[in-house]
Amino acid sequence: MKMHALSGGRIRMRKSFFYPDAAREDLAELPVSCFLMRHAQGNVLFDTGCHPSVETDGEARWGGLVKFMTPILRPGENVIAELATVGLTPDDIDVVVNSHLHCDHCGCNEFFQNATFFVHEKELATVQDPEMEGQGYFRADWDHPMPLETVGAEKDIFGDERLVAMPLPGHTPGTMGLLANLDRSGSFLLAADALSVRDSLETDFSPKNNWNADLFVTSLAEIRRIVKGGAEVFCGHDAAQWATLKKGQDFYD
Ligand SMILES: [Zn+2]
Repeated sequence: MKMHALSGGRIRMRKSFFYPDAAREDLAELPVSCFLMRHAQGNVLFDTGCHPSVETDGEARWGGLVKFMTPILRPGENVIAELATVGLTPDDIDVVVNSHLHCDHCGCNEFFQNATFFVHEKELATVQDPEMEGQGYFRADWDHPMPLETVGAEKDIFGDERLVAMPLPGHTPGTMGLLANLDRSGSFLLAADALSVRDSLETDFSPKNNWNADLFVTSLAEIRRIVKGGAEVFCGHDAAQWATLKKGQDFYD
């Protein structure tokens, strides 16, 4: 199984959301990470990033959220264009695992018309509450006719322990990580916003955009346990880490 890190866009936010020592006025430019796994039984995408339309008009899709989370994608900096660099179209994706349903993690869901989607049951229940529309969640991102399977506890996607989705709640009620077990490169925990930036693993700092700080910190302990077991953790929005990853056509296997 090969694993490719693909850009799902870029966003600008206050640095102090993620780093407690940052000055209030400091801004951070953050990557939006997505991962493609080429499993023998199908192509799996973990998160679909930002919708391409926010390259030119963020407010049209994200409304007032752009004040806190400003899309700064360059043209073509989205998961669809990234898939093309590895020779795939959206129709080649068989499974999409959404870590959660915030707009920078499921913005391109609509394009994966052949895929089955995996989402945590608590995340789905959350977005179905009409009051949550616009609170980082937008129906245009997640409400599509493709088949959707909800996850409760852990979910082994193909039943061979190579790709295991696991609940890591706190950032949102149904945030999940995906543990990818590769033959040569080892194990990787794709943490998305269960660990937006690596620093939180040492500081236990819960980013200010989290739903429940206590649950987030409990999930951090679970991530530390998995890292102690030998897995490497890839964060959702860590600029320094993202710079070091193999990306695009380059892969882990
Ligand atoms: Zn999020």
